[in-house]
Amino acid sequence: MAGMQLTGVGVSPGRASGPVVRVAEPLGEPLATPAPADPEAEAGRIAPAAAAVADRLNAKAATVEGDARAVLETTAAMAADPALAAQAAKLVRDRSLPAPRAVFEAANVFAASLEAAGGYLAERAQDVRDVRDRIIAELLDIDPPGVPELAGPSVLVARDLAPADTAGLDPAMVLALVTEEGGPTSHTAILARSLGIPAVVAVRGVLALEGVAGLVVDGATGVVLAPDGPVAVLAAAVEAEPEWDGTGRTADGQRVKIIANVGSSEDSTTSVAAGAEGVGLFRTEFCYLAATTEPSVEAQRAAYAKVLTPFHGKPVVVRTLDAGADKPLPFLTPEDEPNPALGVRGLRIGREQPGVLDRQLEAIAGAAEDSGAEVSVMAPMVATAEEAAWFAERVRAAGLPRAGVMIEIPAAALSAKEILAEVDFVSLGTNDLAQYVFAADRMLGALAGLNDPWQPALLRLIALVGEAGAELGKPVGVCGEAAADPALGCVLVGLGVSSLSMNAAALARVGSTLGGVTTDSCRQAARAALAAGDPARARQVARAALGLGA
Ligand code: PEP
Ligand code: MG
Repeated sequence: MAGMQLTGVGVSPGRASGPVVRVAEPLGEPLATPAPADPEAEAGRIAPAAAAVADRLNAKAATVEGDARAVLETTAAMAADPALAAQAAKLVRDRSLPAPRAVFEAANVFAASLEAAGGYLAERAQDVRDVRDRIIAELLDIDPPGVPELAGPSVLVARDLAPADTAGLDPAMVLALVTEEGGPTSHTAILARSLGIPAVVAVRGVLALEGVAGLVVDGATGVVLAPDGPVAVLAAAVEAEPEWDGTGRTADGQRVKIIANVGSSEDSTTSVAAGAEGVGLFRTEFCYLAATTEPSVEAQRAAYAKVLTPFHGKPVVVRTLDAGADKPLPFLTPEDEPNPALGVRGLRIGREQPGVLDRQLEAIAGAAEDSGAEVSVMAPMVATAEEAAWFAERVRAAGLPRAGVMIEIPAAALSAKEILAEVDFVSLGTNDLAQYVFAADRMLGALAGLNDPWQPALLRLIALVGEAGAELGKPVGVCGEAAADPALGCVLVGLGVSSLSMNAAALARVGSTLGGVTTDSCRQAARAALAAGDPARARQVARAALGLGA
């Protein structure tokens, strides 16, 4: 099979192939110049463009059922709303704006008034912006932005995908995902893994491929082939699960909780079915990636209870909103920060807006009651013991019994003892810890090697935290992607970690690998990896010490 071969970073395993569908780039803000030569004619273009968008949405609605049909019909009705087209046409006539700019401004005024109304209406503001972009694309004669409706199973190719777009993908229709940008621990990669969609990120040159009928994607090796001829539609085979009885322990009986990372009730159901003993990380911000206003306490309580109910009677760790960097929440994240990963994100937003944190804690306490899960709460992006103490006090004031924090900033790892003195447990966020310790943006494919969780410098920081946990007799967990690698999971146990939290697909493999090795060999593997000079060597010597193949 001749053709082109490209390589990126495989982030979600599985081999699949099929026709390519390109995800259109986001639209920039349309320019207010040049003024149209004939404003009347320019104004006259708007209503037909809006009608064309409405017709297309209605035609699509007729081909689907249920919720998808209702959503498409509602969006079509918004596009057909004569008030929007009339207001935009007025702006063209009054201010000599080009039609795309006029639509942009008119729709923004509508969206802002919906937001001001709050509640259900505020949630419709995002739909108005979606309609706005579709009409602008129609006027400019380009593809509308975002993931298109798929006519059949396809391989999606994009520059990058927002977590909200990835979360909405249908695994039955998306055979694989290939992005030009993105890194292995970006949230798009994490979501692709949890959806079981093979994915390769940082594939330089994939957007420049012209006239390609289809792609063959290997999400394990990162190889993407563009053959000359036609490409068969092939969905990734589901790998046979290894045997695991659902209780995490080493071969000599040391208990290590094998628990799940979840962001939705679907994740919870899949995780329970895969044997999760509880939840080590509930990313609450995943419930609100598209929310433009703060959800009410009641709405949050109901959303969290839905995710927690499958874990009735089991331990779960709910993380307070980690808004910012690659997970901006429109209603919380500051827009104008030069370095969002180093900005006001996670708990730092809670310090600036304690009301938002307190309302979330109230909702979590309610959801704990409704679901019957044994809820603990933890904060993201904690740097100091003082921040940890501040957070723990608010958690207790909300009537919640256990408070913990994430260790994902190097300063926090170096102060693990002081932090543990303030809280009941800590959980290592190895994705961000790697990003900050190597000063390497986790979303950049070019820096994927530095964000490798086998990096000895990262393991040395983790060892400090493990030692602090042992000294204070408090639990240290890992909920970053490092925990999902079976051999690295054993090394983490050797470094003093007492729970490993991961996506549902990794549970059985990590649980069964751990069950086949002794605590002593975990410690030996950890010592060997700590002393290694680079990640490849660390992996090799650790696997050898554990008696696992190369
Ligand atoms: C981490 O940083 O390792 C982590 C678990 O949190 P998130 O990936 O959501 O930033
Ligand atoms: Mg993090």
